[in-house]
Amino acid sequence: MKCSRCGKASVITLRQGELCRDCFTRYFEKKVTGTVRKYKLFSKKDTLCFAMSGGKDSMAVACVLSRIAARQRQKMFAIGIDEGVKGYRDRQLEDMKAFCGKLSMPYHIFTFQDEYGMTNEELYGLAVKKGVDISQCTLCGILRRRIMNREARRLGASKMVVGHNLDDEAQTALMNLTKGSVELMARLGPASGPSGNKGFIQRIKPLYFCTNEETALFTKLRGIKVLYSPCPHRKASFRQYAEGIIEKMEKDYPGTKTALVQNMLRLIPMLRKEFSGGSVLECAECGEPSRNRICKACETLQKIGIRPKAKAKAKATAKD
Ligand SMILES: [Zn+2]
Ligand SMILES: [Zn+2]
Repeated sequence: MKCSRCGKASVITLRQGELCRDCFTRYFEKKVTGTVRKYKLFSKKDTLCFAMSGGKDSMAVACVLSRIAARQRQKMFAIGIDEGVKGYRDRQLEDMKAFCGKLSMPYHIFTFQDEYGMTNEELYGLAVKKGVDISQCTLCGILRRRIMNREARRLGASKMVVGHNLDDEAQTALMNLTKGSVELMARLGPASGPSGNKGFIQRIKPLYFCTNEETALFTKLRGIKVLYSPCPHRKASFRQYAEGIIEKMEKDYPGTKTALVQNMLRLIPMLRKEFSGGSVLECAECGEPSRNRICKACETLQKIGIRPKAKAKAKATAKD
């Protein structure tokens, strides 16, 4: 197969046609920077925090954006979180360190061990023992996000760059419509959560229109070393179920994924108008931004019977 733009050997078949190595990387980078521009995801004045797992998505977005950011002398750094998954996250974080080293990007790594006194696996074990109804992935996500937001703010970030891609967003949309709530959909989009919210660092998603397949290929072509296997704790979840349905629809009706996300994007302004109520409070326990009196992380930790070692310093460096 030949590239439909230049005639060289094709590396990927997209709906628009075949693309070779060079045309594909150019196409991918343009899509990412185009999303940043169209949705005004950040300006030169912003300090960017790259929320990095060390996986393909977070590395791909950092690869594209760090060059632009460096050109405009933007302040940026990366944060990685080690929740203690041996043979997986430790390897990813090694990849992340090497990658950040090459980009001369400062990075910071925080661990569940320091924060909660144990690994996510141990926390989950306690949750099971106490009969707390939560999956290991959900628990991990809640506890990671809290450290991420707090440390990004403490280190002076005004925007948090996350690696969510089109596949993730399509799954989340379907999940919210079928099992979650339509209110939650109001928080989606390339820039999620209102900016200027006390203590909450706005999360931006420059890979919003890039698929899993495109992102994986981009990291391969750019020679970025990443682990492609999923987290070993990712068991059969509702997200995987939604992924299966969307993949099947995409195969039978090409364009489903993009249409799902595009249509949701059209709904978001209406949803935000409808559900703008409900102010953001400070968690009475840790001081982090929360929609309830106690944040999700503190609520969960209380149920498990854990008090975090590191107390948050939410008010210390609030910067919006
Ligand atoms: Zn080409
Ligand atoms: Zn809290």
